[in-house]
Amino acid sequence: MKRDCIFCRIASKELPAKIVYEDDRIVAFDDIRPQAPVHTLIIPRDHFASLNEVPAGRMDLLQHILSKIPAIAAAKEVKAGGYRVVLNTGPDSGQDVFHLHFHLFGGRKMHWPPG
Ligand code: AMP
Ligand code: ZN
Repeated sequence: MKRDCIFCRIASKELPAKIVYEDDRIVAFDDIRPQAPVHTLIIPRDHFASLNEVPAGRMDLLQHILSKIPAIAAAKEVKAGGYRVVLNTGPDSGQDVFHLHFHLFGGRKMHWPPG
């Protein structure tokens, strides 16, 4: 737990969030500024600033997150219609919260290429 990290504080329930799914390793909650009708963030409970900081021995956590996304998409009713998963990493990506998080977008047609 990193005390000054908003996503660590959401994971520990110190800050409120609309939680969609949680287990012992990860938490999924709705984005506060949604960019699509469905915009949910999925984070590990453990703090890693970005994908670049995940040690090789902890990469199973990413597999765990990805394995749960279809069920989270189903809970948000976008599994059949389709959805997009985004993992911003570092300055050029636009990452601005430095606690690893996947974005799940759905509920509208996505544009390609992304901006
Ligand atoms: P990124 O630009 O990839 O770092 O995305 C960070 C995301 O976190 C943005 O989409 C924000 O809207 C979202 N966000 C920031 N603070 C909160 C919060 N307290 N609860 C939910 N989502 C948040
Ligand atoms: Zn954190």
